[in-house]
Amino acid sequence: MSAADSKNDLKIDLSDALPFVPGDISSRLLDWYALAGRDLPWRRTRDPYRIWLSEIMLQQTTVAAVTGYYQRFLERFPEVTTLAAAPLEEVIDLWAGLGYYARARNLHAAARMVVEDFAGKFPRTTQELMLLPGVGRSTAGAVSALAFDQRAPILDANVRRVLCRLFALQEQPRSGSAEKKLWIWAEKLTPHESVHDYTQAIMDLGALVCTSSNPRCEQCPLESLCQARRQNLVGLLPLKVARKKIPSRQQLALLLVDQGRCLVQRRPTSGLLGGLWEFPGIDVAGEDPLEAVHQYCAGLEKIDKLSLLGQAQHTYSHFRLEVSFYRVDLEPRNRVEQGAQHWLPLADLTQLPLHGAHKKLLPLIGA
Ligand code: SF4
Repeated sequence: MSAADSKNDLKIDLSDALPFVPGDISSRLLDWYALAGRDLPWRRTRDPYRIWLSEIMLQQTTVAAVTGYYQRFLERFPEVTTLAAAPLEEVIDLWAGLGYYARARNLHAAARMVVEDFAGKFPRTTQELMLLPGVGRSTAGAVSALAFDQRAPILDANVRRVLCRLFALQEQPRSGSAEKKLWIWAEKLTPHESVHDYTQAIMDLGALVCTSSNPRCEQCPLESLCQARRQNLVGLLPLKVARKKIPSRQQLALLLVDQGRCLVQRRPTSGLLGGLWEFPGIDVAGEDPLEAVHQYCAGLEKIDKLSLLGQAQHTYSHFRLEVSFYRVDLEPRNRVEQGAQHWLPLADLTQLPLHGAHKKLLPLIGA
């Protein structure tokens, strides 16, 4: 969950003066939005279930990537009750390809909480919405404002960028001090009326005009008030966040093939990459890879052929996984499936929600 969605520090100090009248910002944004706002599928509703679903899907994901998933989810789970009643594995499978799979697990857990603890009705306030798994302060604010027109500030990536520039914030935007200021400003700028439209307007300004690269300041309704524009700092703000160094792990992944089918396994639904599929793998730390593959396969049976298909790496939030991918052709046999393992036709691999590192292996087998 992002710092924007921190569940702490809800109290903010409203005493600081602003470099402009907040009402000027909201009225300019509302006028601009009436002419230039986006028409998106989840904007044609005030249903909190649909708005919440879209907000979760849009976290760290583009509108273009989300649209198809949003429609497919609603066809399969038209109400929060149908989502809550579904098995988690089905939700994860439908989420396949959208990434950040913790969102799918939280989505399912939150739907169950709405049904069990809120009698199937979404709560209206930021504080109550933040009780739902995967819902931080900004997402809660968005649902509260967009579904219920409640005066609730948001601080998603687009709004964060707009505010950093509008106030010429020259601090690391993820620092505690910057976070506090940004929430204060977001709160002060949120109007007492037309909160629904204002919230969409400031999101759209960040998505369409105050973009991360090449912002279109000359088309911006806030240009004459923007502190970064006045101080010639637009290209520098928000300040770049220094990337953390993360450890690497090495793994051998095995494409075990028998008569056009390969072995895949589903990870346990709790824990890292929970509920996603993968090829059988062996973690290694310096040992001879061929020997490790042979050792692993010794318990299976005779190997017809063994070959290195290629390598791939994928960065997760806390580590980088470097994978060497071996194809192991086994002697043909009728195979019995065990536990989470499954013999899948090679042609069906692209339909499977593999975790990120193993998904990158598919081009190596022409899938
Ligand atoms: S003037 Fe430029 S930098 Fe300032 S808010 Fe508008 S688009 Fe962003």
